[in-house]
Amino acid sequence: MKQLSSSCLCGAIVLRLPDAFDYMGHCHCGGCHKFSGADYATVGGLDADKVELMKGGAARALYQKSAEPQLAFCRHCGSSLYPLKRSSGKLNLRLSCLDEAPSMSPGFHLFVGSRAPWHEMNDTRPQFETHP
Ligand SMILES: [Zn+2]
Ligand SMILES: [Zn+2]
Repeated sequence: MKQLSSSCLCGAIVLRLPDAFDYMGHCHCGGCHKFSGADYATVGGLDADKVELMKGGAARALYQKSAEPQLAFCRHCGSSLYPLKRSSGKLNLRLSCLDEAPSMSPGFHLFVGSRAPWHEMNDTRPQFETHP
């Protein structure tokens, strides 16, 4: 299995994961807007226990957003790394932090009901009001 690495802007944190995502999509939810600072976040989902923290454990900060998602980011540079859903054990890796391209590509848009009003959707991927 090919392995991918993911790192934060300052390089303090390096993650390693298999190039085998369960799903991949562009998320337009309000949480992703704030957490990423962008119009949407492109995420790839996989089991959290497949993601290895190679470097930077002390730099990784966790924000408990609500009962469910725990958001991981770098306490030095602020890069958003992933939200972790504790009930499912799924981690939604922020693809923008990958150091190389994965073999899967994003297949859909989710939470388009809360998309940024200035953001124009002009591709043909399926759109979901909330979850697929
Ligand atoms: Zn960093
Ligand atoms: Zn989202």
